[in-house]
Amino acid sequence: MQGRNQLKSIVFAIGLGMLLNGCLSVRPSSPTSGSQTSLLSRTDNLALGNPSQASTSNPENYLITRPQYTVSYSRSRGIANWVSWHLSADWKGDSKRTNDFRPDASLPSGWYAARPSDYTNTGFDRGHLCPSDDRDATPADNAATFLLTNIVPQAPRHNREVWKYLEEYARQLMSNGNDVYILAGASGTGGTGQNGYATSLANGKLTVPATLWKILVVIPTGSDNTFQVTENTRIIAVNIPNNQSASDKPWRAYLTSVDDLENLTGFDFLSNVPVDIQRIIEKRIDGDNS
Ligand code: MN
Ligand code: MN
Repeated sequence: MQGRNQLKSIVFAIGLGMLLNGCLSVRPSSPTSGSQTSLLSRTDNLALGNPSQASTSNPENYLITRPQYTVSYSRSRGIANWVSWHLSADWKGDSKRTNDFRPDASLPSGWYAARPSDYTNTGFDRGHLCPSDDRDATPADNAATFLLTNIVPQAPRHNREVWKYLEEYARQLMSNGNDVYILAGASGTGGTGQNGYATSLANGKLTVPATLWKILVVIPTGSDNTFQVTENTRIIAVNIPNNQSASDKPWRAYLTSVDDLENLTGFDFLSNVPVDIQRIIEKRIDGDNS
């Protein structure tokens, strides 16, 4: 009897699944409910979606698009909300690190644009969201990562240890035959650098974030220009406090779920992925296959 009931349950679950899929397939698409097409472009920095519906008409969620990465920038915070890019062998080469930190001249006139000297002697590093080493195919690609809209005040040990090790892990995943779709952002206010706690730099013009978070979506490298995210796609999400002692632990100690990062930020990550797939993969924590 037990086995028969289990069988009934399984048949019921399959039927319910088919019914739900049927409902989903006729639901009209909307920006936040997931695209109905599951084929995504390999060469698009926003392949997974625009998590905050950033646009050039919103100063607090201001869209900056460049070939190397895409940004949502906050005028009042003076730093990015998030940066989105993809890492593949095509972006890698022999170009040297330019160290060309500079104001982002693409910001609208009248907006404050951070300067390199805003960080001098503050006890915080100029911390990349899209890393220099992810963009070294050409000098221009590398120089783009030093625009200060891609930079946040980051505790030096955070930048040079735990965050760097995760950046290196992403490049290792790439070297092992993957394309990696990456979102990184800065959340909250107040961090602890080499000179202690601060909420802002440059007389309040640049917010010191409380945490830096990151999402990696790992896609096996393929021969055509499209890919799909499935319920088996590996996702790595972390949220790491912006202080010196964060590096006392490895990045794996800060693993979290995309759902938790959505609650933290109010954004809808992976919005181009069908909602039934988002539901499954966004609650998963890397290494936890439950
Ligand atoms: Mn860095
Ligand atoms: Mn989502």
